This record gives sequence, structure tokens and C-alpha cells, in this order.
Amino acid sequence: MIQSLQGIGMTSLRTRERMIKRLTEQGISSNKILDVMRNTPRHIFMDEALASRAYEDTALPIGYNQTISQPYIVAKMTELLLASSGRLARVLEIGTGCGYQTAILAQLVDHVYSVERISPLQKKAKDRLWELKLKNVSYLHSDGGWGWPDHAPYDGILVAAAPPEIPEMLLQQMAVGGVMVIPIGKGGSQRLQRVTRTENGYEVEKLEPVIFVPFLSGRK
Ligand code: SAH
Repeated sequence: MIQSLQGIGMTSLRTRERMIKRLTEQGISSNKILDVMRNTPRHIFMDEALASRAYEDTALPIGYNQTISQPYIVAKMTELLLASSGRLARVLEIGTGCGYQTAILAQLVDHVYSVERISPLQKKAKDRLWELKLKNVSYLHSDGGWGWPDHAPYDGILVAAAPPEIPEMLLQQMAVGGVMVIPIGKGGSQRLQRVTRTENGYEVEKLEPVIFVPFLSGRK
């Protein structure tokens, strides 16, 4: 009983508020995104043993050698994705993981199409989003290198694992005017990139250095 009450204390609104303050200090300025992150319980996306650390600004293990992205990265990628236009209709996410980024996106765009190569991770994520009553999400167990052609073109693509270069199939599935946010590079030297598809081709902005798990091929 005491344990669980302490658990509630650790994950209280005040703890979340501290996370939001830190995000603001780190340069996240979209109130829309900050509000969604304030109201989304991040601790339910991880194992109970780690739940008390859910609002720290760090990546944490979610099993299968994968990690939940740190709050700053989730906020930053979402901000980069939403920056250019109005509300996005269709967003493709590669790397469902524990589903936290998916849950944030689902509250900010019309529909999220989320692809994950590790089936049990995706299954858990799906259950959590269902509990949160986020129903505007479709899931596919597949190698995200293929994208999800059935629902293309996408206004936004967010990739949560780092390939050495931008996968061709993902470029093809972008709408004109669409934006992709993706970490590119190996191990120690990855950089966040934002790709915008124009009438004539693609514009690439190289942004800040980041650390992501590798983008792997095949399904598990
Ligand atoms: N946003 C997620 C990130 C999880 S880590 C979260 O916060 O939980 C990245 C995820 O990408 C992992 O779950 C990993 O299995 C997945 N992944 C890596 N390469 C992939 C690929 N080619 N296709 C689909 N998913 C991939």
C-alpha cells in the first residue's frame, strides 16, 4: 500500500510539471505540445520498476535492447514535425517502441500509422494507447524500411531509430509539402535531420547531434 502510494507521488502532476519546465528551458516553445506532454502519463509506458524515473530527462530501457526516447527528444521531434504547416492529417511513425511518442502524436494529428519490427513491444504499446482511449492509430508489424505504402502519401514521417542514410521507400511515401524527421548516422555520430518534399525534390536540414538505437532490418 505504502509502496503504491509512493508510486503515485513520484508520478504526480507536480513531477510532470517539473518535466514541462525543463522542456521549456531546453527551448521547446509549442504550448500545444507542452500541454499534451503535461497531460500524458509517461510512467504507464514503462515497467513498474522504472516508473518512478519516467519523468527524468533520460532514455530508459523498455526491453528487447530498446529504449523509450527521452522527453526532450520526443518534444523536439514533434515540434520539428509540426512546425511548418497546420494540422497534419496522416503521420507515419517508424519504431512504435513503448508507444509514448505514438500517444503524443495521436493527440496532435488526425491519424498515426505506426510501424514496429518487434511484435511484443508493439502489442504492449497498442494496449496502453487503447487504455488511454487513443483510437486514431493503426499498427503494422513490419520492417519500417518499407514504410507503409497502403496509406501513403504521408504529411509527416517520424523515425525513432537511426539508419546510416535516409531510406528511399520513406522518401517515396512523403506527400509534396510533407516533412520527415529522422536521426541519421552510426553509433557515436548521429544527427537529427528534417527532410521536406517540394514540387521539385527534397530539402534536407541537418540539425542537432542525437543518440538513437540503430534502425535494423527484418521483423522479430
Ligand atoms: N519512440 C519510441 C522509440 C523506441 S526505440 C519510444 O519512445 O518508445 C526505437 C524503436 O524502433 C524500437 O522499438 C525498435 O525496435 C524500432 N525499430 C528499429 N528499426 C526498425 C525498423 N527497421 N522498422 C521498425 N521499427 C524499427
